[in-house]
Amino acid sequence: MLKIDCHTHILPRKLPNWTEKYGYGDFIYLQHHKRGYAKMMRGNQFFREIRENSWNPELRIREYEKFNTSVQVVCTVPVMFSYWAKPYDCLDISRFLNDHIAELIQGHPQNYLGLGTIPMQDSELAVMELERCKSVGLSGVQIGSNINDLNLNEERFFPIFEACAKLGMAVLVHPWNMMGQQQIQRYWLPWLVAMPAETTRAICCMIFGGIFERLPELRVNFAHAGGSFLPTIGRIAKGFECRPDLVAIDNAVDPRKYLGKFWVDSVTHDTFMLEYVLRLQGSKRVTLGSDYPFPLGDLEIGKFIENMNLDQEVKADIFYRSALEWLNVDIERFKE
Ligand SMILES: [Zn+2]
Repeated sequence: MLKIDCHTHILPRKLPNWTEKYGYGDFIYLQHHKRGYAKMMRGNQFFREIRENSWNPELRIREYEKFNTSVQVVCTVPVMFSYWAKPYDCLDISRFLNDHIAELIQGHPQNYLGLGTIPMQDSELAVMELERCKSVGLSGVQIGSNINDLNLNEERFFPIFEACAKLGMAVLVHPWNMMGQQQIQRYWLPWLVAMPAETTRAICCMIFGGIFERLPELRVNFAHAGGSFLPTIGRIAKGFECRPDLVAIDNAVDPRKYLGKFWVDSVTHDTFMLEYVLRLQGSKRVTLGSDYPFPLGDLEIGKFIENMNLDQEVKADIFYRSALEWLNVDIERFKE
């Protein structure tokens, strides 16, 4: 069965020294300190060590073959968004990263699909780069769960979503810049607690801000099975019902009405949770995801789903049909 992993990250092997080029800021660069490994540095600060599978497309394809998965939807690592930079510098970085992904897809059309990154801090530049992403063959864009602490319902972002809907570009919302992270540094809590909350924040802002209501054609996927949104839908819907004066101020539609309208990926690491997600979302709105190649990801690329007692049709939805619909890609592309 065709398998499309909708949540994977990739970087070019070499990044320019943007701090030197622009004369400010702690932009990310890579130090190739030993064979097969690199350090991601933010300014002079060590951020994370990555392996060659973060940049080598052939190695990635080989690793995926072990789990019978032939297609990877790649996007950059959220720390590369650079929304904090001057808009034209962020545009420059976005173009560099998007061109790398576009080239990768052209070289391996049966193995890779791509999502770009756009300078969300400047709506006009963001739409400009979004249009260019489409013209170079990307299927959509990945954006952060907040933009420099601003929520996605802010009116300034609406033209970007509107353009995504109009151009038919898919959107992946990925948690990053986690709220409250300074207070919860110990035990990796920014990743374990704040990331799922960030995604919930993004979904709630898009629902309550009326973005889905105003743009029914917009196709959005939320990382990590929507974070803690689906597990707390009861509370969120109850809040809408009991305090409409606080919650229903921009959109009067019950949040439960949007279940099964947007997509979420399968990164739950838990069979009961995936069953619950499937029940709320329907299998046509759950895409295979892994968060490869990072350690908190499902690095067996959905093997736990293969082992679940699910109908073959449900598995086909999760493994590829939902992805094709979300990305508006024809299955013919992957046939020999
Ligand atoms: Zn991710």
